[in-house]
Amino acid sequence: MATTTAESTILRGGEWLLHSSEPANVFTPEQLTDEHRLIARTAEAFVTNEVLPVLDKLEQKDWTLARQLVRRAADLGLLGVDVPEAYGGVGLDKVTSLLISDRMSRSASFGAAFGAQANLTIIPVYLFGTEAQKQKYLPKLLSGELIGAYGLSETGSGSDALGARTRATRQSDGSFVLNGEKMWITNGGFADLFVVFAKVDGEQFTAFLVERGFGVKSGKEEHKMGLHGSSTTSLIFEDVKVPADSVLGEVGKGHKVAFNVLNFARFKLGAACGGGAANVISESATYAASRRQFGQPIGAFGAIKHKIGEMVVKAYAIESALYRTAGLVDARIAATPHEASDGSAAVAAFEEYAVEASIAKVVGSEALNFVLDENIQIHGGNGYVKDYPAERHFRDARVNRIFEGTNEINRLLIPGMLIRRALKGDLPLIPAAKALQDELLGPPQNLETDDSPLADERRAVAAFKKVGLMVLGTAMQTFGQKLSDEQEVLMHAADIAMDVFCAESALLRAQSATLNGAARADLHRDAARVFINDAAMRVDASARQALAAMADGDTLRTLIAALRRLIKVTPINTVMLRRRLADEAIRRGGYVFA
Ligand SMILES: Cc1cc2nc3c(=O)[nH]c(=O)nc-3n(C[C@H](O)[C@H](O)[C@H](O)COP(=O)(O)OP(=O)(O)OC[C@H]3O[C@@H](n4cnc5c(N)ncnc54)[C@H](O)[C@@H]3O)c2cc1C
Repeated sequence: MATTTAESTILRGGEWLLHSSEPANVFTPEQLTDEHRLIARTAEAFVTNEVLPVLDKLEQKDWTLARQLVRRAADLGLLGVDVPEAYGGVGLDKVTSLLISDRMSRSASFGAAFGAQANLTIIPVYLFGTEAQKQKYLPKLLSGELIGAYGLSETGSGSDALGARTRATRQSDGSFVLNGEKMWITNGGFADLFVVFAKVDGEQFTAFLVERGFGVKSGKEEHKMGLHGSSTTSLIFEDVKVPADSVLGEVGKGHKVAFNVLNFARFKLGAACGGGAANVISESATYAASRRQFGQPIGAFGAIKHKIGEMVVKAYAIESALYRTAGLVDARIAATPHEASDGSAAVAAFEEYAVEASIAKVVGSEALNFVLDENIQIHGGNGYVKDYPAERHFRDARVNRIFEGTNEINRLLIPGMLIRRALKGDLPLIPAAKALQDELLGPPQNLETDDSPLADERRAVAAFKKVGLMVLGTAMQTFGQKLSDEQEVLMHAADIAMDVFCAESALLRAQSATLNGAARADLHRDAARVFINDAAMRVDASARQALAAMADGDTLRTLIAALRRLIKVTPINTVMLRRRLADEAIRRGGYVFA
């Protein structure tokens, strides 16, 4: 498949905070190829025609059926996109991975089973397995003959995954004996192969490939809020003997497996959430068109238009950020010399864009939560009963803010990773913050006279970046090594960074749509403008709170004056713009940019 982006110089991870990009250098959904669209349609038809009709059976824990569906997805080529043909995969780009995660989200329960197989088992075996392990397991995992699961979490160690207590005791013949228990494992009830993390001799955190036949037992199915059609159990290891060649990666290097898998998985979860958010707009739009109150469809009321308009805006922003990230990952992989069968370029690319993967996960899961909550609200009483899917979607989606690293952990990671890169010299954040300080102490600079479409928004995004720099720079100066103790400040910094990335991604996509004469480019501009208008208020509020936690008196007054100088966004008529987006969604019966 052709490379999906024409970036000449590929932006490094986090670099968008310091530099602006050109629309021509950014991948957007409007650039999808026919091949991309064909795979998306295949995945969509599979979920619509083969999964959703049997969802009740899955919810009754029919795991034989779940296995059959995984096999069917494999037959359709949906399982192996990240794995080269040499190992039985189909070796396509990350835009394709994104599209498949997006479409699979239409059945969240099966999407979880599929994700545990495709992202949490196949990916680690492919990326970290020995040649023998890959030959032994990948073809069977990729055909769906073997079902996989990922055992990282334990009762006492969820976010603190490296604090695992499961022990692997080394035997004189080089084998290991595993003892311990893993919690909340997706596919736990019926998987055949487990990626399990345990501490060798209680110290060296290590990943293992453990077959059920070695003696793994599953606990009972958890009674969950949602995802009833996905198996979630504990895994019990009681003197489970594991051969020496079952170590995945290296002894003591389990963190490399865990963290790299999470980089992939977070991005894909973001894709599933973004896709889920866009897809559910059709339920709201259709219901708003048909449900009548006070003699008119509820979609005629401004209060409902506001909700649908905002759903579209949020879906547009996360979608823009996701495709931009997929384009960057693909460009980075393409620019790294490697053999087709070698996954190290993909590992390096996902490491490079780990900040963006965390952003995808947090913004995606929160956008989805917003959309699903408003979807229930638009459905009124019908949203609260099981006759409509709205309540199931809402229950199913809540966990997205909890797994693959909670949103708190991911929020902390975003500024944490940016700062670490700055300190390593990989991201010139410190000189940029100093230059900004000088700029703010100097006389005001002449305002640009650019009045092209979206020029105000472009200036606003440039200002958000400076605010982000100001907050991060002040935080580093104020707290130094102790900054990691100041979680509230870091969370505000993360919120600003997320708004910068999403606002700029939406802006670049709308600019690109305008320049390329895309269909309904006017609506692209509407969505981007609303997002950026509202982001200005969020960025301002986060910055004020962060700065006030770091300074007081005259210093704080100077910082707030600088903030005022940076964020000079004149409010636009978002009422009208949201109405336009909502009217179009209602007219089409779904997401405006699908
Ligand atoms: C349906 C479902 C499926 C799952 N599937 C899998 C799977 O397949 N494999 C697997 O290994 N795990 C799986 N999990 C487990 C999941 O990854 C964990 O639940 C998650 O990582 C959170 O861990 P925890 O539940 O122990 O919460 P905790 O870590 O106890 O967190 C509780 C709260 O404290 C916050 N918190 C924790 N530490 C910090 C900190 N340092 N700073 C600030 N706040 C903090 C968290 O953000 C959260 O709000 C699944 C969970 C569910 C519910």
